[in-house]
Amino acid sequence: MSNEVNNSSDFTCKTFTIRERVDQLNNQAEFIERTTPAETLRLSQKALQMAASIHYPSGVAKSLYLIGRGHLRLGSLSDSEEFLKKAYDQVKILNEASLEADILNALGIVNLYFKVYDLSFKYFQRALTLCKKIEDPSIEARVLNNIGEIYRELKDYSKALEYYQLSQSVHLEVSSPINKSVAVSNLAGLYLEMEDYDNATLYIDNAIQLAKDEENLMIESACYHYAGIVARKKGNYEESLTFLKNALKLNQSTMEMIHEAEVLIDLHRTLFEKGERSRSLKVLFDAQKIAQNLKSETLLLQVYNEMIPACEALGNLEDALAYSKKRHDCIQAIEKIELEQRLRGLNIQLEADTSYQEKEAYRKLSQELEQKAKELEDRSNELQDAYHTLKVISEIGKQITAVLSLENIFTIIHQHITDLMVADLFGIGLYNSETDALHYDYLIEDGIRLHNVQIPITRENSFAVWCYRNRKEIMVNSAAGILPDSVSKFSSSFGSLMPAIMFHPLIVEDQIIGIITVQSRTCNVYTRQTLETLSTLSAYLSVAIQNAQKSERLHLEIQNREAAQQELSKLNQELSALSEMDGLTGIANRRRFDEFYLQEWGRAKRAKEPLTLLMIDIDYFKQYNDTYGHITGDEMIIRIASLISQNVKRTSDLVARYGGDEFIVLLSNTDEPGALKVASSIRSTLSSAGILHERSPLGGVATLSIGMSTCIPGASMSLAEHIQSVDAALYEAKQAGRNRIVACSMTEKRFTEYAS
Ligand code: GH3
Ligand code: MG
Repeated sequence: MSNEVNNSSDFTCKTFTIRERVDQLNNQAEFIERTTPAETLRLSQKALQMAASIHYPSGVAKSLYLIGRGHLRLGSLSDSEEFLKKAYDQVKILNEASLEADILNALGIVNLYFKVYDLSFKYFQRALTLCKKIEDPSIEARVLNNIGEIYRELKDYSKALEYYQLSQSVHLEVSSPINKSVAVSNLAGLYLEMEDYDNATLYIDNAIQLAKDEENLMIESACYHYAGIVARKKGNYEESLTFLKNALKLNQSTMEMIHEAEVLIDLHRTLFEKGERSRSLKVLFDAQKIAQNLKSETLLLQVYNEMIPACEALGNLEDALAYSKKRHDCIQAIEKIELEQRLRGLNIQLEADTSYQEKEAYRKLSQELEQKAKELEDRSNELQDAYHTLKVISEIGKQITAVLSLENIFTIIHQHITDLMVADLFGIGLYNSETDALHYDYLIEDGIRLHNVQIPITRENSFAVWCYRNRKEIMVNSAAGILPDSVSKFSSSFGSLMPAIMFHPLIVEDQIIGIITVQSRTCNVYTRQTLETLSTLSAYLSVAIQNAQKSERLHLEIQNREAAQQELSKLNQELSALSEMDGLTGIANRRRFDEFYLQEWGRAKRAKEPLTLLMIDIDYFKQYNDTYGHITGDEMIIRIASLISQNVKRTSDLVARYGGDEFIVLLSNTDEPGALKVASSIRSTLSSAGILHERSPLGGVATLSIGMSTCIPGASMSLAEHIQSVDAALYEAKQAGRNRIVACSMTEKRFTEYAS
């Protein structure tokens, strides 16, 4: 069994197998009840243990019943009753009427043995009612037989006969022959008691045959018992002894102790009547022992009833007196037991009533609890919904307050709102002060985006405007139904009017900024809760819109500032360019030259490259001014600047006006021969231009004098020495007669003149 359980991986399968085993054990226990009740007890106890371990109530009930039956068969009436009552309590909640009838029948038998006939009768009656209800003739026959037993005990033989016969006729309906022997043997017993020995013998023979067929050892034994009595009554002692010994033999295998004691008493009577007195007394002592073991006062009484006359007959008066005393105690004990039993019967009745009342109270209580549980479940569902809503709202809140684009905010809200409520139409309208209207920046109907919907704030019959102006929400669940007077004449500003409508104002820091609306084609879809949800969403939305608008304004301001900054830096650039330019000629001024020269000096020094300066001055310019006027003089300066610039082509070179009619040219990475070429080409260009200068003694045309100095910075001279040397070279050119180039070599401390 345990292997079977352990090897099975499927729990359902395990349970089923144990159940099967429980049923099997119980069936076995039931089957051998008539032959070996002790074994019945053992098997059903095992079944009970198993059934309880797997919570198999039906198995538990059946096992308890069979344990009760086992004890009954073995004569332990109190134990029997205890287990049967447990079985009854168990079966009551199972609705197994057939088993219930069996248990009631057994309880009836226990009380019959206790001689509490009224209680016994009650049990049988209840069993009978059940049998009729479930149409179970086999139990019905047994119960009828047992009722007959009560009448027999009460010596109402005609009533007993009536019930036995009724039982027998019901038995005929049952196809199974089992238990027919019981009814027939009872009839036999009854005729025996009525001293109708012929009829008794007839039924005894019949019952023995049936009992053998049914293998019902107890009935067979009982019938031999009856047969033994009949034989004694007829004076056939040997025959009587044979029958009674047969009965005893069978009893020993069935272990039915009460019956064994009863057979022993009859065996004693036969022996006593036959004259075998000492042997008979020995048998009587055996019966007494059993009765004492069973603690059965009724059996003991029967024994003492025999013992007293036997002792008297044997002349043993002292023993007879002692047994008389015991008999007296016995009767008193029985009376006490009977009294107790009656009291117990009453208590049972009382308990039954109390239990009924308790059950009724329990039923009411459990009804109330069920109601409470249902309410709690509803409440829990509501809470679950509310929790879901809160979660979604908080999620929306988190998302939209982090988003700074209005369009994105609206999209997020719309995506989530369909999770929370029916929204065939969803819109967000913001107030625009320029147009004095609500602008639906976001409006979606059946998934289609509507654009350019505006509602002037002056419109009288608009839900949106009413909501905006009054700063109040609107909830309409059936537009055709009850609408507040103030909004009853309202219509939709776009499309057809939806039957279920909600509007909520969008308010930030006590300022109304717009409205949100959700609408449905289905009536009655909005509740207080959905409106609350919309209200919470509106609060989040308002903050998000405000944030987005603030951020938008900030963004614009930043953009404007950036543009101004750019303008400023452009101006600065122009300004700085201007500050480095000579106003008259447009070429670099002295400041620019100084800066550039310093920079180039450093670079040439690092690169160890030669650097040349040309200092150019117009000859006799004072006279030119005097001859042609200052304006023409200016034009001359402009022409010369342009002329020089034409001949200085490298981007790394610079032409600057050094002051008055004096120019300076910086030639980067240029040695003396290279620089001489540039200087010569300047002079030849001017000469080609042939600018008239009437008062110049140098041929009546404009001429230039050029000083030139080349050096590798740092190696031979300093920056100041370089300037001084070129200045000296120009001076030298003027002194030498003008209209020429003079190069100064500082290292060699000499001037070289190049004139054309
Ligand atoms: P030299 O041959 O020795 O150079 O004789 P010069 O007359 O040119 O004498 P110098 O270079 O010393 O004089 C420069 C004159 O140039 C002085 C001034 O009248 C004139 N001048 C200086 N700046 C300007 C100017 O911006 N415009 C005009 N029209 N004349 C100027
Ligand atoms: Mg000059």
